Amino acid sequence: MSLEQQPRIGTLHAEAVHTLAQRVRGRLIQPADAGYETARIIHNAAYQHKPRVIVQAADAGDVIATVQFAREQGVSLAVRSGGHSISGLSSSDAVVLDFSHMKAITVDPERRTARIEPGATWGEVNTATQEHGLAIPAGDTASVGVGGLTTGGGIGWLSRKYGLTIDSLLAAEVVTADGRLVRASADEHPDLFWAIRGGGGNFGIITAFEFRAHPVGMVVGGAIFYDAADGEKVLRGWADYAAGAPDELTTIVFMMHAPPLPFIPPEKHGTPVIALGLVYTGDLAEGQRVVQPLRELATPIVDITSPMPYPAIYALTAEAGTPGHFAEVRSMFMDALDDDAIATIMRQMNSISSPFGIIQLRVLGGAMARVSTDATAFAHREQGIFLAAINVWMDPADSLIHHAWADRFYEDMRPYGHGVYVNFLGDEGEGRVREAYPPATYARLEALKDTYDPTNVFNRNQNIKPTVQQRSEEAA
Ligand SMILES: Cc1cc2nc3c(=O)[nH]c(=O)nc-3n(C[C@H](O)[C@H](O)[C@H](O)COP(=O)(O)OP(=O)(O)OC[C@H]3O[C@@H](n4cnc5c(N)ncnc54)[C@H](O)[C@@H]3O)c2cc1C
Repeated sequence: MSLEQQPRIGTLHAEAVHTLAQRVRGRLIQPADAGYETARIIHNAAYQHKPRVIVQAADAGDVIATVQFAREQGVSLAVRSGGHSISGLSSSDAVVLDFSHMKAITVDPERRTARIEPGATWGEVNTATQEHGLAIPAGDTASVGVGGLTTGGGIGWLSRKYGLTIDSLLAAEVVTADGRLVRASADEHPDLFWAIRGGGGNFGIITAFEFRAHPVGMVVGGAIFYDAADGEKVLRGWADYAAGAPDELTTIVFMMHAPPLPFIPPEKHGTPVIALGLVYTGDLAEGQRVVQPLRELATPIVDITSPMPYPAIYALTAEAGTPGHFAEVRSMFMDALDDDAIATIMRQMNSISSPFGIIQLRVLGGAMARVSTDATAFAHREQGIFLAAINVWMDPADSLIHHAWADRFYEDMRPYGHGVYVNFLGDEGEGRVREAYPPATYARLEALKDTYDPTNVFNRNQNIKPTVQQRSEEAA
């Protein structure tokens, strides 16, 4: 029977699905199968796709088979590692390639390297590397996956000391759009290696990452909580101090309504606060000294900074890892944080539509800024500040209100910033995907898309279209 004569499951041919099921070593799940509902869910509940086929890959061979299947069927292929895509791109109504069973982590403490499969979460990686007193720079939340965070760049608790996640990437095993498994590193397919470090999932599917790990054990970490009434003073003092602080100190500001945690005074629960999260990696006594001025920006509500094992900092954001909430994001970079910008951010905070929404600010710089802007596809190396708003809510009936706040936030903050971080990019259209890269970087990515994925097999991502597709769309 030819493909065209085969019965279809939605847009898929039943016989081809059956053949794929026979071919893969992992599990192929269809809507009627047990476990389908759990398998289809991603972190952001705003996206409720119903994939026709979910392949829970067991190895690179399964990835190759699934890529070939999606190509032959001409359907969209979503790739899911940790499932934290804020814009829902790791699910689709066609085919999902799910790495939740490819989580192997092998640490080589002698060489200070680690080989990690994409479905591992950064929490799992932290636990495995910490056994050897090592860490790999990741993000701020333990449940985020290695696959998505790394391919977008990875800004986190160690960025100023050890750079972005991609700055510690030594090599990757990549399945290309034509179904080959290749190794990408500084010496092997260096152009592909450049593109996957910030270009998202556009260029191939990574089946394993090899990272350099760094000596990180006990750190000074935690958060200093301030009343939002002191917001302008706290943000001004923090931004000025953190930018000039030693690289050992990385800070992340979370502006939010205080969660009902036992260490926060009950009368402050649900009130707007500024949590100044931090990690100092280095000598602990020196760390306490460096952190001290941040404790004196105003009168703290509570200060939970102390020496702790590095992975303990992730307890601070554990709640953000809970799946099933609805979320919308807007982000941008800023050269610096001027007083007008601070006043506007405070107004946004005071008008946020959901008590679960967060405005986040990070002072960048340090090691991530010392990498040349053209060394990787992530090129926002010289930016001083990263600003993001993540509006989060529980009831889908309220979605319009919360989306509207995110849009307002973006419009009001736009005059102060530029660009966008691809890992904090919502469903904001093609123009914003271009803004994730400076023009020269985008042009280089486009050329590499033509080389590695000319028919745009990998399109379920913040998509960089091959030029052939752009031309045919323009002609249509
Ligand atoms: C609560 C929360 C906290 C966050 N904190 C940070 C942070 O501190 N720093 C930061 O930098 N980012 C952060 N992010 C953003 C995060 O990095 C991105 O959402 C990232 O895509 C999530 O990775 P994942 O593997 O969980 O995602 P998934 O949803 O599984 O994948 C997202 C996308 O990544 C690509 N992708 C995933 N796996 C692969 C693969 N194996 N090969 C090729 N492409 C792949 C695909 O295009 C996919 O659509 C956070 C997100 C959330 C929800």
